Formats: sequence, structure tokens, C-alpha cells
Amino acid sequence: MKTKEPSLKQRFNTASVAPKALTILRDYCDPITGATLACAEIPALYADRAGLKSGPIYLVGWIPAGRRTMLDGSVCRSLGAAATRFNTQRKIGHPPRNNDHFTHDAQRQHVYDWESRNTGNNDITLGVDKMVRVLQTVSNDFGMKTPSFRYKKAREDVQEYNYYLSSTHTIEMREKRLSVLLHELAHALDHHINKNKTNVHHGPSFTRTLICLSAQYRHYAANDLEKRMIDSGIAVAPLESLPALKIIFNSLQKKQRAHIVSRIAPGLK
Ligand SMILES: [Zn+2]
Repeated sequence: MKTKEPSLKQRFNTASVAPKALTILRDYCDPITGATLACAEIPALYADRAGLKSGPIYLVGWIPAGRRTMLDGSVCRSLGAAATRFNTQRKIGHPPRNNDHFTHDAQRQHVYDWESRNTGNNDITLGVDKMVRVLQTVSNDFGMKTPSFRYKKAREDVQEYNYYLSSTHTIEMREKRLSVLLHELAHALDHHINKNKTNVHHGPSFTRTLICLSAQYRHYAANDLEKRMIDSGIAVAPLESLPALKIIFNSLQKKQRAHIVSRIAPGLK
């Protein structure tokens, strides 16, 4: 008879185990949320606590992005059972969606801060008509329906944001800076090309998409941007982990790689 593997909580009366206490045997990083699926061997200390002293014990579970604990892992008594469990979770491909630890947009503020430190001097202010042209050009290049667009002048008395709303595929802007428009377009592409349907809006798949847009349309070196983000503690998904984005980006890189402003308005400096 097949019995369900006990959870970490049931077996060890603890909801989490720090990875430094585990020997990680196999792992996989979800490019959308940045969570890591790990298959690990449990140290003797934990095994003793659970009264399981005979032989190695394995744990398979997800570690949230930027965290140091595996949550709700399953305990496996053999490497074979652990490998099967790992493969099942790997096929699902994402961490539990009903757990706040995995749906928290953990690096949002880090991305905002990084952008304000790194894009200020090189930015361009666009008129509304040119913002629309940028939206059309980028959407067309990536084979995405052009988002609906609204521009509203920012009020001075309240904090107002630029945003992309996936339910209506709409971008609403309060600012006219090109970098901000590309940020919102990166959200739209992350939703449509990378199929990010989670609340982790500024995760590794988003930052990779933003790098692709900055490289394609603003002539930044992708490797340099990636290194600078990672050095600042921001997770970036490898392009290889996002096959749909990779195909489009690589084909665009072979074609015209003109600055977006010179494409939409030749002669404009
Ligand atoms: Zn954003």
C-alpha cells in the first residue's frame, strides 16, 4: 500500500529547515518566482530528533526566493522516493500558490531602487504620441497585442504610480520617461511571453525581460546589466530558462538594433 510521505511539520514538529543544515543533492530554480526546489539529505541531528536513526533521510521541498528555509518539505526514506518526489514537483514547475511565502513580490523595492540609481542620467522624456509609438513598436517586435494605453498627468498632492494591469492588458502612465515605459512593457511581456500569472511581479523572469528590452532598445550591454543587478542582490533568470523569450530576443538581436527613439522618430536626438 502506498502511504503519503509525512510532511516536515508532521515528522519534525518544525515548519522549516535551513538549507545550510541540509546537503542539497539536486535543485531547480523557478524563473518566475525565484523559489528553489531542492532534494536534500537531512543531517543526523534532525533524524535523531524524529527518532529515525537508521540510514539517511531525504527531504524534498521549496525554498522561497531570498529566504534561508525550506518550507513544508516532504520526508522521504530512500533516495529513489526522493528523486520521484523531486521529478513530480519539477514537472509542476512552481512552488505552492497558496502559501504567502511564495507569492510575495520580495524584490520589488530593490528593483525600483536599482533603477533609480542606474537609469537616471541616460533617460529620455517622450511626448504622449511617441510613448504610443514605443508601445506599438515593442509589442509588434515581440508578437504581443499592443496594450491599451492611458496617460494621466501626475498630481502633486498624492503619490501616484505607473502600472500594467494584466486583467485588461492596460498600461497607465503618470510619467513620460522611456525607462518607466519599458519597465511597464516588461510587465506586459513577462505576463504574455513568460506566462507569469503570479503576484511575484518583479521576480527573476521580470528582471530578465527588462534587461532584454534595455539591450534591444537602449543599447545597454545585457551582460553588464545582469552583473550589476546580481551584484546588487537582485535575482535574474537565465535567458535559457525562459525559452519563449529567448527565441524572440535572439531573433530581434540579429535584426535591427537601433535605439527605440531613433526607430520611432528618425532624426530625433
Ligand atoms: Zn513594476
